[in-house]
Amino acid sequence: MIPSVLPTYSRAPLSFVKGEGSWLIEEDGRRFLDLGAGIAVNALGHANPALVAALTEQAGKLWHTSNLYQIPQQQALADKLVALSFADTVFFTNSGTESCELAVKMARKHFYDKDQPDRVEIITFTGSFHGRSSAGIAAAGSEKMTKGFGPLLPGFRHVEFGDHDALTEAITPTTAAILIEPVQGEGGIRTVPDQCLKGLRDVCDQHGILLIFDEVQCGVGRTGKLFAHEWAGITPDIMMVAKGIGGGFPLGAVLATENAASGMKPGTHGSTYGGNPLGCAVGNAVIDIIASPDFLAEVNRKAGLIRQKLEGLVAGHPDVFDSVRGSGLMLGIKCKVTNSDVVAAGYDHQVITVPAADNVIRLLPPLNITDDEITEAISRLEQAASSITAN
Ligand SMILES: *Cc1c(COP(=O)(O)O)cnc(C)c1O
Repeated sequence: MIPSVLPTYSRAPLSFVKGEGSWLIEEDGRRFLDLGAGIAVNALGHANPALVAALTEQAGKLWHTSNLYQIPQQQALADKLVALSFADTVFFTNSGTESCELAVKMARKHFYDKDQPDRVEIITFTGSFHGRSSAGIAAAGSEKMTKGFGPLLPGFRHVEFGDHDALTEAITPTTAAILIEPVQGEGGIRTVPDQCLKGLRDVCDQHGILLIFDEVQCGVGRTGKLFAHEWAGITPDIMMVAKGIGGGFPLGAVLATENAASGMKPGTHGSTYGGNPLGCAVGNAVIDIIASPDFLAEVNRKAGLIRQKLEGLVAGHPDVFDSVRGSGLMLGIKCKVTNSDVVAAGYDHQVITVPAADNVIRLLPPLNITDDEITEAISRLEQAASSITAN
């Protein structure tokens, strides 16, 4: 008999009933150190007092109106994001994959309105992840996500991650955009080198193509900059954001330049919930904290600390771990044993990590994890690794 919850996930036998900062408390009372943060969502930890206050204050006033009206919280958040980034304009969504939908629509409409209606193709990369909507799975293109769900949304061309020649060959007069995660998350914490991001920007400029970054996982302070592409010193034309920006409240956004967004006029796109007062009240509180230079400096300091300790962990368990990768607090450990076994051993030692492709375990802790918690995390990962070797 089919479970009452549609069985699209194979779930761990853990039920968390409360969260406090970097900790999750299981039904049975056990405390887990959370290095997954709901897959890079709880950027400021669980039950963060500032976010709880923002949410409850707004909840007592007004939850939802409609985008038929002005929404002051949405306006304030858009103004902040525009001031803090390359973007001139923002549309709010409820999830990463909805941001992908709009990014694709916006790129195509841009060229349609510029009398280049044949420019519809979007180049994407193997190992990428852009969510589970029809555009998202067609964009990523992996058989795992697309098989059985055809016919797929046409107009995506998939290029091998890191293959420069293949990318150059893939560009044609029908290319509208290149869509890439500056750091692949689901694909196994694979960082696009700054040099390559710069190269992509150049290629796009040469051919008049739009550059779209999917910063749903790597954005909002995760790599130690507000947005990951800042490390490369270049900017995209369109950027997808979600996950961390809501700190656990379902919120996403598409940021764009005036030029890229020029085709989007009244009636061309919409969302019932996107950017509603409740979501944006939380989003404002998240951005106010994370965008502060002092906060980001702390993320970078902690990233250095955890990275150093992880190198030690890997060196000490060469039969379990291969290497550390990633950027800021978006870290991966490539495993020599099956990654899901390492995640499961972590559960036994009350530390949460998240598996990814390429036999990697992901560490995406709350950005405000403390130094003591980092030390504790390494100790628990040590125990988990030792338990695997002992078996
Ligand atoms: C999680 C993720 C998405 C999809 O976000 P949802 O909120 O699950 O729709 C898209 N792109 C990237 C890079 C992601 O990590």
